[in-house]
Amino acid sequence: MELWQQMVRDSVHSVDQLVEKFGIDRTVAEGLDEFFQARINPYYLSLIRYPGDPIWRQCVPDKAELDDLEGFEDPLQEDRMSPVPNITHRYPDRALFLTTSQCGMYCRFCTRKRKVGNSDKISMKELESAFKYLEKHTEIRDVIMSGGDPLMLTDVMLEKILKRLRQIPHIEIIRIGSKMPCVLPHRITPKLVEMIKKYHPIYVNTHFNHPWEITPESTKACEMLANAGIPVSNQAVLMKGVNDDAEVMRELFTKLLKIRVRPYYLYMADETRGANHFRTSLETGLEIMQKLRGYTSGLAIPHFVIDAPGGGGKIPILPQYVLHRDEDRVVMKNYKGEIFVYREAHNGEVKPDLKIPIELVDKKNGNGSNGNGSNGNGSNGSSKKPRNYKEKVEVTEVATSNN
Ligand code: SF4
Repeated sequence: MELWQQMVRDSVHSVDQLVEKFGIDRTVAEGLDEFFQARINPYYLSLIRYPGDPIWRQCVPDKAELDDLEGFEDPLQEDRMSPVPNITHRYPDRALFLTTSQCGMYCRFCTRKRKVGNSDKISMKELESAFKYLEKHTEIRDVIMSGGDPLMLTDVMLEKILKRLRQIPHIEIIRIGSKMPCVLPHRITPKLVEMIKKYHPIYVNTHFNHPWEITPESTKACEMLANAGIPVSNQAVLMKGVNDDAEVMRELFTKLLKIRVRPYYLYMADETRGANHFRTSLETGLEIMQKLRGYTSGLAIPHFVIDAPGGGGKIPILPQYVLHRDEDRVVMKNYKGEIFVYREAHNGEVKPDLKIPIELVDKKNGNGSNGNGSNGNGSNGSSKKPRNYKEKVEVTEVATSNN
C-alpha cells in the first residue's frame, strides 16, 4: 500500500471520531454521517490551526448542513445532461467523464455529494458505455476526467483509462480534475507523473481555496506535475468564513503562481443542498475582484463565474468597468475609478467629428490626466474635459467581457 492510500485509510470518518475529535453532539453527528459522510485524512487534518478556521470549515461536518432545506441535490443539472452513465455532455466540444466516487477528502461544500462517497454512486462497470459515447461523438475534442477524484484510482486503473481515451483520434485534450495536490499531495508520486506524461497533452485542474493549503508538500506536488509538462490550473470557490476576503484571495492567487499553478476560475458557491451557510453575496465576490484587478498581475486573476443553476454553464461576471457604450465610443473606468474614453474605429477610421481626447478629470485634485498617469493638460492644474464627456454617465448598456 502506498503512503497516500494508507493516509486515506487513516482518515477521520466515523461518528465516534466526529464526537470525540470535534465535540459534535452524537445525534447531530449521526445525521451528518447519513447526509454526507466525512473523510478527513491526517495530512489535511494537520492543516487545521484552530476550531472553525478556514481549513476546519471545509472538512469538518457542521450542523448547519442539516438545516439547509433550500439547496438542490444536483444544482448544475449534470444528471439531466447525462446521455449515458458517467458522462455529462453540456458544451459542444467537451464532455465530463466521471471515473470514481472516491476523494482524498470529502469537502463539506461539495456540489456532487449525490455522486461522492459510497462506491456504488459512480459505477466503474459502466465505463464501457461512456467510452462508446466518447468514440461515437466526434465533436468531443476535450474530455474532463472527474468524479470524485480520478487520482483516487490506482496508477494501473488510471493508465487503462488514459490509454483508452488516447485511442480515440478526435480527443485532443485530456483534463484531470483533482483536488489531490491540495488535500493529499502525497498522491503525486514520481511514478504517477511518469505515467501521466506518456499521454500528453494532459492538463490538471486542481482546487485550492485558502493560502494555508499551500505547504511544502503541496508545493512539491504541483511542481512535480509542472516539471512533467502538465499545466496545472486552479478552480477556487468563494466561501464565507473561508476566503471571502480580498487579502486572503490575493495571497492565495499570488502564492499559487509561485508554485506554478495558474488561477483559472473563482466560482460563486453553487446552490447545493447542505452548503447554504458557505454562500456569500455576489457583491462580496465583485468587491474582491475589483480589489485584485490592477493591484496584482493579471496572471494571478481568475475568471469570476457563476455556474448557472439549471445547467446554464459558466457565466463570467465582471465588476462594472464599462460605463457607457455607443457606436462611436466606450467610456470606461480603470481600477482606480478614473474615467477614460476609447474611440471606436469604423472601417479603420475614427469619425472625424468625434475626436475625443483620451483625457480625464481627476475629481479629487481637479487635475487632468491621461491614460499613462501623467498630467494631460500640462502642469497648470486646470482640467479640460474631453469633448462629449458627460459628468454623469447614463449607463445604457451593461457590457461584460473577459479581460
Ligand atoms: S474533492 Fe471535489 S468531488 Fe470530492 S468532495 Fe471535494 S469537491 Fe466534492
